[in-house]
Amino acid sequence: MEAIANFRTVFEEERPRLTDVAALLEASRCLECGRDGRPAPCIEACPTRIDIPGFIRAIREGDPLTSARIIFEANVLGGSCARVCPVEALCEGACVLTHEKRRPVAIGRLQRYATDAAFAAGIALHPPRRQAQLPLSVGVIGAGPAGLACAAELARLGHEVTVYEARSEPGGLVVSAIAPYKQMVEPIPQEVEAIRALGVTFCFNTSIGEDLSFAELESRHDALFLAVGLDGDMPLEIAGSDLEGVWPSLRFIERLKAMDPPPIGENVVVIGGGNTAIDVAREAVRLGARHVTVLYRRTEAEMPAFRHEVEAARDEGVQFEWLTLPVRLLGEVRVSGVECVRTRLVPDPSGGRPRPQVVEGTEFVLPADTVVFAIGQQPRTNLLATIPDLRIEQGRVWVDEHFQTSHPRLFAGGDCVNGGATVVEAVAQGKRAAHAIAQRIQPLESRPRPMTDRKETLQ
Ligand SMILES: Cc1cc2nc3c(=O)[nH]c(=O)nc-3n(C[C@H](O)[C@H](O)[C@H](O)COP(=O)(O)OP(=O)(O)OC[C@H]3O[C@@H](n4cnc5c(N)ncnc54)[C@H](O)[C@@H]3O)c2cc1C
Repeated sequence: MEAIANFRTVFEEERPRLTDVAALLEASRCLECGRDGRPAPCIEACPTRIDIPGFIRAIREGDPLTSARIIFEANVLGGSCARVCPVEALCEGACVLTHEKRRPVAIGRLQRYATDAAFAAGIALHPPRRQAQLPLSVGVIGAGPAGLACAAELARLGHEVTVYEARSEPGGLVVSAIAPYKQMVEPIPQEVEAIRALGVTFCFNTSIGEDLSFAELESRHDALFLAVGLDGDMPLEIAGSDLEGVWPSLRFIERLKAMDPPPIGENVVVIGGGNTAIDVAREAVRLGARHVTVLYRRTEAEMPAFRHEVEAARDEGVQFEWLTLPVRLLGEVRVSGVECVRTRLVPDPSGGRPRPQVVEGTEFVLPADTVVFAIGQQPRTNLLATIPDLRIEQGRVWVDEHFQTSHPRLFAGGDCVNGGATVVEAVAQGKRAAHAIAQRIQPLESRPRPMTDRKETLQ
């Protein structure tokens, strides 16, 4: 039953740092195709609009620190994004070499090369603070990618920012959920240190709605930015889901990130069709499971996971059971199997995705020592329900084109708004919201001076 754990493989990075020579050679492949006023397609594909040909040119000229400055100017989490971005679907997917059926420039790895060089040199990563004409006090709720990006951008514009974070450390899902083979924790501490150097104050262990009320926060600041992401996994509501060896995906991954993987046995079944399910399956392979099977109730074509991730999982030996629904988990104390049934797709009368319908008499059992379910995250209803006049649509915080919510002094961005996307998307939204706050909000005359609440600050 013990997992054949192989820590080297579990924690081995998928995209390690390039050597100097490899980086120079790779940088020389960039065609700098976006001249004459037209941005290169890779820039247009990047939600944070990093000047990609510009930073690659600096690497080619032997100046990785200038390269890093170009990256951080556009994206304060440029080092993390270099590791976790789905580049195949973004910048590298748009690279002209891809369209010529050649290997795209390894933009993600070059970005990592430059940002690692900057961290190693300890250079100031951001341009100096500007002087704001009417400095605002802004409270940011959540120190994940969206909150960090918003805080940094507002500080650069000369505003006072305090970030309130429920956990004891910053980084959100990057430090707790993103697959260890993409990123453990580094370089989040360095990126946050650079944001702190811009004058941003951090209050950790401060959960808004529990340790501090939303109303109290409202009275302290001219504007607020809500960047609380999503909550834990949706529950798996079938018999046997309380058996030992059955895990919600986020708790399972958190154990890996703490370098404390649970014993998983030989047969692992993962339920779900998104990127989290694929991550868990690939992690289970690295942990030494012999058979890793992903169950999805629709077909491969409807799977929300990135195509390149599904291919990578398949190459690593993950098996897929499409059109399959788990109906019951079997076992006495610990799970021993998953009873499944086949489905067929029928049109959705309301015009949505085709719906899975059970095919009677197709039941079968898959052996399982571990079952991990990854069927989506829940909204943070507890907090959202305490915010007056907040419009929620299908579990997501509604915002207008300026990231302003239905509450006039509350802006929002990241997963709580888009329902769960990517780090770079959360960074882009945090940045855009910061500019909207700076343009649309006036300081409140009634506001008391902001104070750092309590507990640890990252000083
Ligand atoms: C398993 C998994 C794997 C993923 N892999 C990738 C990947 O490889 N690449 C990629 O680009 N994206 C990936 N993502 C998506 C990415 O992690 C998210 O899109 C991104 O982290 C969203 O940022 P955020 O700031 O909106 O939310 P989060 O990262 O969720 O941050 C929200 C923060 O708010 C804090 N908070 C919550 N409630 C409160 C409160 N009441 N008071 C104070 N603070 C609070 C939380 O503690 C947290 O720190 C993955 C997601 C998951 C679940």
